[in-house]
Amino acid sequence: MLQRTINEKIVFDGIGVHTGLKSTVILLPAGVDHGIVFKNPNFPEESIRLGEVVPEIALHASVLKSKSFIVSTIEHLIAALSAFRVDNIIIEMESLEVPILDGSCSTFVNLIKKAGIKECSVDKIFLTPVKELRFNDLKLDREIIVAPAANKEDNTFDCSLYFNYIAEFEHPLVGKGSLRGSLTTDYFINEIAAARTFGFLEQLAFLRRNGLAKGSSLGNTVVVGEDEFLNTPRFEDEFVRHKLLDLIGDLGLLGKNLAGTITAKKTGHSFNRLVILDYIKNPENWIQIK
Ligand SMILES: [Zn+2]
Repeated sequence: MLQRTINEKIVFDGIGVHTGLKSTVILLPAGVDHGIVFKNPNFPEESIRLGEVVPEIALHASVLKSKSFIVSTIEHLIAALSAFRVDNIIIEMESLEVPILDGSCSTFVNLIKKAGIKECSVDKIFLTPVKELRFNDLKLDREIIVAPAANKEDNTFDCSLYFNYIAEFEHPLVGKGSLRGSLTTDYFINEIAAARTFGFLEQLAFLRRNGLAKGSSLGNTVVVGEDEFLNTPRFEDEFVRHKLLDLIGDLGLLGKNLAGTITAKKTGHSFNRLVILDYIKNPENWIQIK
């Protein structure tokens, strides 16, 4: 498979879910081996290249920092780029947050489809662990297992990403659910992209007191009340699908497409970051394959 970028510039804007402020993002095509790079025009000498930066510990968004600027709530955009297997792109923004739009990846998918994907002439590089990696949080019963890409009969690697995601919530309206399959672009577009951000009404006051969720509304968040949804879900298991979407976005912070099998249970941004932390701190645990 060849390296990919977008065919033409994409511009979009909207409100940040946490800041409540308007934000404009420009996506620009980039050349071979450039990687996925955030730029802020106010600090032209700095950049944030995915796979080189350990995500911040943040509960409600994926956050990366350089010396002078921060990019936040990047997970849905990165999930869409990852699903389209984009390797090289410049993401330019002056504000702190990627717009939340409708809380899902639908707009990103439509914008990328409209701009088109351009293949470069050089092979894509996938990442896979040398051997199975396990990340556990026994107290909260969370787990991520990353198993290496399998060898095919012709002795090349199977560069697909297989997943088995298990979600469990205490809230009776949400409950338990799981998804299992192979993460193809079509699967993402048809089954995952439209799943929206969700939130529990009982947590909203706490989040707002802590300066978060200032831009959240029924237009971008499925809100779970005590015994009813405040808006209509798009899927029966929209929450499980959105948790998988977030996981795909967070794993996209590796900067290269992951190959292998990921088994994950009850994960969130602060836990998913352990995979990126391992890749950056223990590069000997990982290999690059084509
Ligand atoms: Zn999300």
